[in-house]
Amino acid sequence: MAADAPGLAGRTILAVFAHPDDESVACGGTLARLADAGARVVLLCASRGERGSTSDPSLVSDGDLGRVRAQELRAAAAVLGISEVLIFDHPDGDLRWAHALELEAEIVATIRRYRPDGVITFAEDGLYWHLDHIGVHERTDDAVRSLEADAPPLYFVTMPKGVMRAVVEAAISNGWAPEGSSFWGITADAFGAAAKPPTFVVDVRPWVARKLAALHCHRTQMSASNPFARIDETVARRCLGIEHFRRAPIDTSGESVLELLGEPVTSR
Ligand SMILES: [Zn+2]
Repeated sequence: MAADAPGLAGRTILAVFAHPDDESVACGGTLARLADAGARVVLLCASRGERGSTSDPSLVSDGDLGRVRAQELRAAAAVLGISEVLIFDHPDGDLRWAHALELEAEIVATIRRYRPDGVITFAEDGLYWHLDHIGVHERTDDAVRSLEADAPPLYFVTMPKGVMRAVVEAAISNGWAPEGSSFWGITADAFGAAAKPPTFVVDVRPWVARKLAALHCHRTQMSASNPFARIDETVARRCLGIEHFRRAPIDTSGESVLELLGEPVTSR
């Protein structure tokens, strides 16, 4: 894969998300593609996801879901080729409000430490108005802007409306998930409902198997009614094979980096 975007070898990309599994759901294919192109991918996860659902109580024998989800995240990161995983212990469910300035300072410190050539985080809509995701978007946006002339390019990952609906419908029609299945109780049409249009897309169809494998590492989140639990590669290629990004409108001296994998947005 070294021939894929040679300009990425040796570059560093920092991804900032809220919970274990966000990285795989939002842009697992792009992270794997970056890693394969020789980029160092660093993931900052603001919480351990300790208030999430549990598909099977036997997976969390000591009741410490956050501990198990942190392990799941490290397994997913290994599948995606992520070099470093930084898991902070901010309170799941309260990321927008609790210790917001500390989180922002940690993001700034992480950027100073790793000097990324680009930063990826949620867009304003937090994929589906999840307040933790919106909080991480806000803190990351503020953190990057605070660096002024040293700010790396910032990219917001979005999901077009209809993608998750297509996954749900495919999972139900193939008998992989029961009628009425949803993503963690969230209606599929919430995903991308308020997303602004992307400025470029990344074709990750050859990386979809890795994205699925990474998603499946998050075992506590893969109950039988989760449409991701059993979808096959063909459906995943069709529904999840294109990842969408928008470059944040920040003046920065940093060169474009994620655009090296990007393709212009065609009418869709
Ligand atoms: Zn999340």
